[in-house]
Amino acid sequence: MGRSEARGPREAPAREDAPGAGGRPYTFVNMAMSADGKISSVARRQVRISGPEDRERVDRLKAGSDAVMVGIGTVLADDPSLTVKSAELRKVRVLGGKPENPVRIVVDSRGRTPVTAEILHKGTGDRIIAVSERAGTEAAVRFRGIAEVLVAGREEVDLPLLMGRLHDLGIRRLMVEGGGTLICSLFASCLVDEFTTYVGSLVIGGRDAPTPVDGPGFPGGNEFVRLSLTDVQEVDEGVVLRWRVRNRR
Ligand code: NAP
Repeated sequence: MGRSEARGPREAPAREDAPGAGGRPYTFVNMAMSADGKISSVARRQVRISGPEDRERVDRLKAGSDAVMVGIGTVLADDPSLTVKSAELRKVRVLGGKPENPVRIVVDSRGRTPVTAEILHKGTGDRIIAVSERAGTEAAVRFRGIAEVLVAGREEVDLPLLMGRLHDLGIRRLMVEGGGTLICSLFASCLVDEFTTYVGSLVIGGRDAPTPVDGPGFPGGNEFVRLSLTDVQEVDEGVVLRWRVRNRR
């Protein structure tokens, strides 16, 4: 385990391959939570948890990824654009033969992403709406010319199937930015390789405020996700904890 004494963000880690022969992207989660482990308020409103240094760190992680994924709950709550904010980092991507922004992906069974959502309009680059059969054929019509619609699964989005499809599309390094419902499903399917949280210097509180891993949790007990700490870094007024996930597919 490395402990970073120096303040300030580090470069994004080198590309790593996901385990297993099936073919899926190397998948890392990055989220910001309060000192009491909440990722937004009880009203599910976005809270500014990190500071400028951490936002730069996150921007570098994004710029180093082939795709960035969120759940529909996050799109409806926060309306993020998921673009690379730094013009310099976008330039480096283009010089490297990549699009300015990573592919932006919404996991959205019913195709509820508003056609006006920031993620579909801000910045250049490809977008994918991952739906299940519940979305019906209208989804393809609704997002025509704005996003590619990928159908995976009957009820909710079949995440292992989706990951295989993303790998087939050439996505090798995938960043997941939340929310807690999606992250819980990814952990339950052993699809997370790395879990990073920025722990900020505030208390949000509230039993019902979202946390990094919500959903049904892991009621069996012996299915808990096991982690190994790989780095601790002081950034802004908080700390970045980086964990490698032991139970991976
Ligand atoms: P979410 O995880 O973003 O999205 C969950 C939704 O995705 C589900 O309700 C489901 O809706 C859809 N989905 C489709 N297939 C799924 C599958 N296999 N597994 C799981 N979900 C699937 O939503 P959330 O948990 O409500 O999180 C939103 C909250 O997190 C907001 O309050 C936001 O501010 C916060 N947030 C914080 C951070 C941070 O770093 N601090 C980052 C992101 C989000 P359908 O059934 O309709 O498809």
